[in-house]
Amino acid sequence: MATAGHRSPKLTAVLVGDDPASAIYVRTKTRTCEGLGIDSETIELPENVSTKDLIGYIDELNTNKGVDGILVQLPLPSGVDTEAVLDNIDPRKDVDGLHPHNVGLLVQGRPRFVPATPGGIMQMLDRRGIEIEGANAVIIGRSEIVGKPMASLLMHRNATVTVCHSRTRDLPAVCRSADILVVAVGRDAMVTKDFVKSGATVIDVGINRVAARARVEDIFGEYSDWEKFNQRGYIVVGDVHPEVEEIAGALTPVPGGVGPLTIGMLMSNTLEAAARLRATSTG
Ligand code: NDP
Repeated sequence: MATAGHRSPKLTAVLVGDDPASAIYVRTKTRTCEGLGIDSETIELPENVSTKDLIGYIDELNTNKGVDGILVQLPLPSGVDTEAVLDNIDPRKDVDGLHPHNVGLLVQGRPRFVPATPGGIMQMLDRRGIEIEGANAVIIGRSEIVGKPMASLLMHRNATVTVCHSRTRDLPAVCRSADILVVAVGRDAMVTKDFVKSGATVIDVGINRVAARARVEDIFGEYSDWEKFNQRGYIVVGDVHPEVEEIAGALTPVPGGVGPLTIGMLMSNTLEAAARLRATSTG
């Protein structure tokens, strides 16, 4: 809500194609904006939009003084050059922190916008009083939005960081060295008890839809919420197997946990963008 002479911060989301999960994420983000008094809009573009046209829309948002934050929902369709699109977002409005300029600042330890998911995880660790300095932190996944920025953030807080991926040898053994284990792979219930040292803090970033009844039974054994499964036709599970709760010192739930915090951090980045743009505005 704006008062006379003061414009509300505004986040503009760009949603390309009709991926239902992406549409849900964007709707959740814009609804959260509404609840907080941040203006929001979603620009919906067809699956077959060209990279050039998409960059044209981004250019308009870059120069639009009424827009503080620009969020391009990923993944983009395979026909679009994602790097070219992200490179063309004004770094001062890049609230996802994916522009190379912002990535560079993060790697140098002087972030402007911390990508929302790893930013939320740092908040979670700090607010729960988990010791980061000197800890062995293992991250599974090396994506631009989670794994890589997570590694930078933990390293700058003096953790000893190991980044694992699909070519890592003996992944369970590497993971068992972790005091803090961050899992961002996208494979349901992949991380079982034998990946986890007793008492470790386990952060489950994964969001996976499981639509096969047999797989639900396989993961949960006695599953208690078939009504929900039958209603939706799937359930959402993380990358960490529920059995890890028996051994971990702390474990984030899925759903819940990292997802809502990610949205919170995006809101925080939008407010920061708005404050900085106003501070530097000459108009
Ligand atoms: P990406 O698909 O971009 O990256 C996955 C990473 O996992 C890659 O580095 C890949 O290795 C690695 N990997 C794949 N298979 C294996 C394996 N068998 N063993 C070890 N490593 C493996 O994923 P994202 O980072 O974008 O997302 C990961 C998950 O987190 C997804 O489920 C996504 O939905 C979720 N997510 C949740 C968010 C939230 O708000 N809670 C926000 C963002 C993502 P390689 O590089 O070698 O291919």
